[in-house]
Amino acid sequence: MRLHTSSALGSVARLSGLGIHQADLLEELRLVSAQRIVRKLCPNCQGSSNSCKTCHGKSYLGRIAVHEVLPMSPQLRQAFDHLDNVETIKSCARSMGYRTLHEEAQRLIDQGLTDLKEVQRVLGSSCDLMTNLAES
Ligand SMILES: [Zn+2]
Repeated sequence: MRLHTSSALGSVARLSGLGIHQADLLEELRLVSAQRIVRKLCPNCQGSSNSCKTCHGKSYLGRIAVHEVLPMSPQLRQAFDHLDNVETIKSCARSMGYRTLHEEAQRLIDQGLTDLKEVQRVLGSSCDLMTNLAES
C-alpha cells in the first residue's frame, strides 16, 4: 500500500482518524510518501537578474520534486500502535532517516536549486510534521 498526501507521518495519523482499524492499517502500510513540485532557480542568474536571457527575467527555470518518504518499520508500527506521543513517533521516524518536506526543501535551498520564497509558496507554513500530527 502506498499513500500520497501532504505529509507522510501526518497521513498515518489521519487515516487512523478515519476509522480504519489502526492495526490493519499499520500491517498494510509499507511506505508512505509525500511529494511537492517546486520551481528551480534559473542556473544562469539564480533569480537575481530581471534582464536574464535564460529565464527571461522570471528567475525560475524548470521544476524539481521535493520528496518525503517514510518507510514503515516494526519500531514505528509499535509507536503508532501504542498511540505514543508525537515526540516518540517523531524520534522513532527520525532514527530511520525520516525528514519532513520542509527539511528536504531546505536541502534544495542549500544546494541553490530553489529559494525560500518558492518553498514557502508551495509548502506554506502549515505542513510540517508536528502540525499535521497535531491536526489529525
Ligand atoms: Zn535567469
